[in-house]
Amino acid sequence: MTTARTRHRVASGAGGRGSAGVVVHSAPLMLPVAGPPLREGALAVRRGRVLAAGPRREVAGAFREHREVRWDGVVVAGLVNAHTHLQFSCLARLGRRRYGSLEEWSTAFDAAYAEASSAPDALATGRRRGRKVDWAAAARKGARAAIASGTTAVADVVTDMEAAAAYAEAGLTGMAYLEVLGDTEESWHAEGRERLITALQEAGLPMGVSPHAVYALDVAVLEDLALLARSYRVRQQIHLAESAHEREYTVRGTGPLARMVRDLGFDFAVLREGGTGLGPVDLLDGMGVFGEHCHVAHAVYLTPDERRVLRKRGTVIALCPRSNRTLGLDTPQVAALLEEGNPIAVGTDSLASSPSMDLLEDVRLLRDLAREQGYTDADLERRLVGAATEGGARALGMASGPGRIGALIPGARADFAVFDIDTGTREPYRTLIEEGPGRCAATVIAGRRVWQRARS
Ligand SMILES: [Zn+2]
Repeated sequence: MTTARTRHRVASGAGGRGSAGVVVHSAPLMLPVAGPPLREGALAVRRGRVLAAGPRREVAGAFREHREVRWDGVVVAGLVNAHTHLQFSCLARLGRRRYGSLEEWSTAFDAAYAEASSAPDALATGRRRGRKVDWAAAARKGARAAIASGTTAVADVVTDMEAAAAYAEAGLTGMAYLEVLGDTEESWHAEGRERLITALQEAGLPMGVSPHAVYALDVAVLEDLALLARSYRVRQQIHLAESAHEREYTVRGTGPLARMVRDLGFDFAVLREGGTGLGPVDLLDGMGVFGEHCHVAHAVYLTPDERRVLRKRGTVIALCPRSNRTLGLDTPQVAALLEEGNPIAVGTDSLASSPSMDLLEDVRLLRDLAREQGYTDADLERRLVGAATEGGARALGMASGPGRIGALIPGARADFAVFDIDTGTREPYRTLIEEGPGRCAATVIAGRRVWQRARS
């Protein structure tokens, strides 16, 4: 096909729809997520966007001059990892152990992070002086592992700014969220606030903000961050109700979490004043933290009233069940969240608390937990694949508009994964969840093949 001929066809309209540069991706089974499964389905893609999705014969017929790429297996809308910390991929040894609580894991993590960062306190006490880790390289490694298991977008919490662009450099879409932790009201107004605003302005790419958790900052700082996020239209994500002791901390300022925070040397008002009298959800909700611009990670320990507050605000909950299991926490309330209609997404969390970046492994565990918790509807698998795609897109604020992600429909980014599975006549979503983990064969982002498994 020559450029001249193409111009002629488009100009004359003789070819029907302009077909220049169209690639048709076809497969025996396609899960566009936004619509029903397509047997012998196809996607027409141009300049990184989906032009059409439907039965192969119709899609191929609509674009007269196209190149076809035939995939074996199942093509699925790209997976969206709604909560991870790619830079901690170099601390995977921590994720291979088991712990008894968030506090136990945090203590182990803080020591490993301090050593990896050659933190001043480690130097002052004369402990082994580790060489500072290259956080950007570690994050790119995590991003490659995510891509190789079918992930095309991430909500990546970044503690060290040098890792902020790694997800994009590796080819992923999504957003990095700069983490804020450890600030008292005093240190925040002395320099923390200014430092954050400067970092966001100098980032060179749109970034969100992640106040680490309700116990990691003074209440006044959390409140100011909520205001900043709304006035600058910055997205937020926050760890919520991950510890069994978070409620005791916010209500009374006591318990294991309070001890941990004191041991870290943080002089927060909650500790001095004996708590706020409010549970974590009511406390944050009163500050205006929740809304569609904010999503939360974990939310293991919620009451029905707290689930209702998050639902009313349109706040997506990113469930990370394998990380919860590593930390020895209770299981996330997936059945209740589905039955009550809370918007949910799925995250792996970092390799420092999870055995792999394979998001479908978390989906499979959520499916098993939902059944154990008494969820009986036949739509379970379809809804969980939806959580791992459209749900994640919603968490990132990328579920609508041009270039949307999380579903294969006209106008969306052409982000998809191919899984080496033969579903036969079996239920496609269930088969994907049961057999998909570890079976990603290729990952395509914005129409570009960014990864393909080497032939054995
Ligand atoms: Zn996390």
